[in-house]
Amino acid sequence: MTMTAQILDGKTLAQTLRAGFRKRVDALAAQGHRPGLAVILVGEDPASKVYVNNKVKACEDAGLYSEKLVYPVNVAPAVVLDKIAELNADPKVHGILVQLPLPAHFAEAAVLEAITPKKDVDGFHAENVGALAQGNPCFIPCTPYGVMKMFEQGGIDLSGKEAVVIGRSNIVGKPMALLFINAGATVTVCNSRTEDLKAHTRRADILVAAVGKPRFVTADMLKPGAVVIDVGINRLPDGKLCGDVDFDAAKEVASQITPVPGGVGPMTITMLLANTIEAAEREAG
Ligand code: NAP
Repeated sequence: MTMTAQILDGKTLAQTLRAGFRKRVDALAAQGHRPGLAVILVGEDPASKVYVNNKVKACEDAGLYSEKLVYPVNVAPAVVLDKIAELNADPKVHGILVQLPLPAHFAEAAVLEAITPKKDVDGFHAENVGALAQGNPCFIPCTPYGVMKMFEQGGIDLSGKEAVVIGRSNIVGKPMALLFINAGATVTVCNSRTEDLKAHTRRADILVAAVGKPRFVTADMLKPGAVVIDVGINRLPDGKLCGDVDFDAAKEVASQITPVPGGVGPMTITMLLANTIEAAEREAG
């Protein structure tokens, strides 16, 4: 007899968390500190445009102030850096986010370092990465933060567990691994050069896939009863969204699994709102 995995429903959790934000936003606004987010987009990448519009819309729905700043692909980096300096000093703005990737003529790290750490709601500034690595985070990157909230909601204990992350990006894999370390898991981080990937993934009590390849993780790569978190968002030729995990087969092996869409995706913007509200609360004292 096979057991079908419990679905970890990020969409519902995101709605619940966002409903809880209302009171905090209203309280801040009443004190004259309505939380504000500035989003900077450089260029015309269609996926980036969608992400930025979704972030601005989420702010509006949650009662936050928001600003969208759009620059042509060939803009001089100094123009963007000047804007960031202005936003750093703007009391209406508590969070500043630069949509990645930036065009090739930008030094990405220099742009991220230009954001004042106390407004770095993506958590990509070196100071905030360092604070997370030391186990004393100031802002946690939104996607792995959302995954941690799903563990919390699902009553999934990480301490002592074998946690395996596929992917080592600064946006997902690496901060996810740091959060697992901080939570007391035993952590393995795999990448494109990993020898015998399956030997690692088969040991995972908790597996996070952040690869960017549709249905890359197959059922035979899972330990029976594993918790499977699918961060991947891949667009198939027919236009449908698909994760990094072969969901239909994996759900017959896993104990808990996130769907795509409706899993990690909705949590990412939710945690961006959480970080921006948190930034405003710190500013308000
Ligand atoms: P990325 O920067 O492209 O990183 C992908 C990682 O996967 C790299 O570390 C790469 O290894 C590794 N990889 C590639 N092929 C592999 C293989 N055959 N075996 C083992 N590892 C392999 O991507 P990302 O920004 O982390 O995003 C990953 C996925 O998550 C994408 O689908 C993205 O769209 C999605 N995403 C979703 C959200 C959300 O809100 N749910 C947020 C961000 C990203 P190397 O380092 O060796 O190249």
